[in-house]
Order: sequence, then structure tokens, then C-alpha cells
Amino acid sequence: MAMQVTDDDPVEEPAHESALETARRQLREAATHVDVDPGVIERLRHPTRVVEVSVPLKRDDGTVEVFTGYRAQHDDVRGPYKGGLRYHPDVTAEECVGLSMWMTWKCAVMDLPFGGAKGGIVVNPKDLSTEEKERLTRRFAEEIRDEVGPSQDIPAPDMGTDAKTMAWFMDAYSMQQGETIPGVVTGKPPIIGGSYGREEAPGRSVAIIAREAMRYHDLDISDATVAVQGFGSVGANAARLLDDWGATVVAVSDVNGGLYDTTGLDTHAVPSHSEEAEGVMAQDAPNTITNEALLELDVDVLIPAAVGNVITRDNADRIQADIVVEGANGPTTSGADSILDERGVAVLPDILANAGGVTVSYFEWLQDINRRQWSEERVANELESEMLSAWDDVRAEVEAADVSWRDAAYIVALERIGKAKEARGLWP
Ligand code: NAD
Repeated sequence: MAMQVTDDDPVEEPAHESALETARRQLREAATHVDVDPGVIERLRHPTRVVEVSVPLKRDDGTVEVFTGYRAQHDDVRGPYKGGLRYHPDVTAEECVGLSMWMTWKCAVMDLPFGGAKGGIVVNPKDLSTEEKERLTRRFAEEIRDEVGPSQDIPAPDMGTDAKTMAWFMDAYSMQQGETIPGVVTGKPPIIGGSYGREEAPGRSVAIIAREAMRYHDLDISDATVAVQGFGSVGANAARLLDDWGATVVAVSDVNGGLYDTTGLDTHAVPSHSEEAEGVMAQDAPNTITNEALLELDVDVLIPAAVGNVITRDNADRIQADIVVEGANGPTTSGADSILDERGVAVLPDILANAGGVTVSYFEWLQDINRRQWSEERVANELESEMLSAWDDVRAEVEAADVSWRDAAYIVALERIGKAKEARGLWP
């Protein structure tokens, strides 16, 4: 296919890295700490394959439009490819490759038996009726049917897609294969093999990592103050759990701005994005605050859980939190990362902190294969133990190699992938 993956890793970090540049830089940095054959590192710089398909759609008005879809599969040395499908006008092959590499690291740091993938369709889902979205999804499932499967590549929801999209995908795939195969996707509704607790999982893992980071820094959770940017699936679930566990959540926000109360907000009374879209500012609170000022509050723990690239070279010096837990994907730019590291701010990376989502996807896949559903309580308990195990592995690396939490997470991931590749060797 036409995508150009250049061989030139940037030596200097550009102001705005692409997802692929970020993924390759992080691979390069981790490789300096890990004793892995350079040939293995070279192989990991490239995806196994990127599939590009045309997805024709009959619009509701009878006209036909053709959309472009991608599935990037980065690496499957540890198990089937795993990653989301996004419907967004900015989807590109290169972005899918970069994000598929992130998924490889995320699955490996969690020690899940999966590799990394990402895909999507170049489309604005808001321009589609529900019926059009269903037809587009079913045709996309057919176009990439040879590439996916429960032991091959397992898509999941991402930007612009949801449980309903996964239900259509699973149905289309199953109809063509001639049998019901729930394990082809995760993030489905529980009635057709989805897992309880999947929706709250990334927020729960963020809360668990925040709690462990506080404990590591000898900070009693009942004395801790927390600010959360973004009150969606990730931010609201993380804020509410930390609130329940005794922390004082002093600020939360949505895209329009935030609420601020030094005595602590009632996080259960503030509507999350799915409960009432952009409903945060309609609530009563002693103070309101801008999203920029929220990031710079003098709190113990800051959780950016909205969008990427919010902590940059421009504001990193003004971040006053001692601990930053990345709820969103990529909220800290690489320039900001170095500044925070020099200043002694602990940044718990996205590939660990929000990995509860893919971890419960793994539980969903296990439930589908075994045809046996777990209770919500079991999911929460198993997630707790997977998160603590990954936390321990990353903490051990922080202490052994004297590196940042982010570097440690990448080192743990690369050790696992690199050793697996060395053990399997290069065929033929
Ligand atoms: P969501 O749509 O449920 O909520 C997003 C929230 O952020 C909303 O409250 C919205 O108003 C707010 N927001 C949007 N733009 C903002 C801005 N510029 N400044 C401040 N607030 C803003 O989204 P989500 O599922 O919670 O995802 C949030 C982040 O977490 C994204 O980066 C996503 O990629 C990442 N993430 C999500 C999952 C998941 O399964 N939901 C898993 C891992 C990572």
C-alpha cells in the first residue's frame, strides 16, 4: 500500500510529534536500557502489515459513497493483535501504525498475551445516520474479515465507535463465518458476550495507579488532593473511585471549564460526559476554573483525562502537582516530560495507568472463549490484581535502573517483546 514509513527517526524531538514518531522514539529510548538484539529492535520499528480497504456505502438518499478503511497490525509475537477501530476524518495509515505500536507496548507492560493493532475509517461519524453507520460497519467487517478473528486480531471501540458498533461488527463477521464468534471483538454489550465493568475499567486502573503512586510517595490518600481534567468515562470513574477511597477531589472539568472547591467536590453529584454531555459547569461550586489553570493547581495528584498534548514545554514549569497520572492517551509531550522529570514530578504513563481498558478487554475475550460470564465484582478483583502486578514490575524497574516511570514501563514492555522475539527467532 501507499503509506510511507520513513526510516529516519528524528534525532531532535519536533514540537508536534506524530503518533508514529512518538512510538519509535520511545522504542529507541527503551532500547538503550534493554539487552535485546538490534535486529529485533529494527523489526519492531515496522508494522507487520497495514491493510487498506475501500468501503462502499449506500447512503440513505440512495447515492453511493466510498470511504477508506485501515487496519494496522504492529506485532503479534506474544499473541493476537489487539486494538481499537476509530471512525474519524483525521484517520491515516501512519496514525494507525503509531497507535498500533502503542498498543503493543501497553499489552506487554500489562503482560497480556496480545500484540498491538489499530484501525479505522476516514469518516466523520456525525455525518452518518445510525443506519448508515451500521451498513458501513458491516461492510468494513467484511472487507477486513480475513485479517481479524479471535486468535488473529481483535478490534475494540475507539473514537467514534462504541458497543453498538462492535455488536454490528461481531454479527457481520459471525454471519459470514457461519457461527457465532463473540471473541472477534471486545467492548460489546454484555448480552452478547461483552464484559461487565469494561466501561469503567480505564478510570478504575487510573485510580488504582494513582493510589499506589501516593502510597509509594508516603502520601496518605485521605490527606491527598486531586484535580481531574476531563469528566468522561476515564476522568469521572477515576475521580469517583479516588473520592470513595478518601481523597479530596478539589477540581474537575469538561471541555467548557471546571469546578473548584478546596474542601472537596461531591464527584458523584457532578454528571459525567455520558450522564449529561458537558454538564459540569451547570453544577454549583464555590469557584470555577479554566482548564489551563486546573492543570497548574497546587494539588498532590493531577489526572489529565481529556485529550492529548495538554502538558507541554510551555506549562510544564508551572505544574505544581507531585504526581501526574495520565488518564488520557499522550497528555504529556516529550518536551514536558523531560522538564517534569528534572523537577522530580512523578509521571505515571498512559500505557500503564489507563491500561485497565485493554485488560478488561482481555477478560472479555477469555469469557467469550470459555462461554462463561464473570460478575462485575470478579472483573474488578481481577483488574486490581493485574494492575498491582504491572505496578510492581514497573516499580522494580524504576528502582533498579533509576529511570522515570515512563521509561520503566517501556523497558518492562520491550524486555518482554524483545525476549519473545529472540526466543522465537526469525523465520525462515
Ligand atoms: P469521553 O468522551 O467519555 O470524555 C471526555 C471528557 O473530556 C469530556 O468531559 C469532555 O468534555 C472533556 N474534554 C474534551 N476536550 C477537552 C479539552 N480540550 N479540555 C478539557 N476537557 C475536555 O472520553 P474518555 O473515554 O473518557 O477518554 C478520555 C481520554 O482517555 C482520551 O484521551 C482517550 O483516548 C483516553 N482513553 C480512553 C479509554 C476508554 O476506554 N474510554 C481508554 C484508554 C484511554
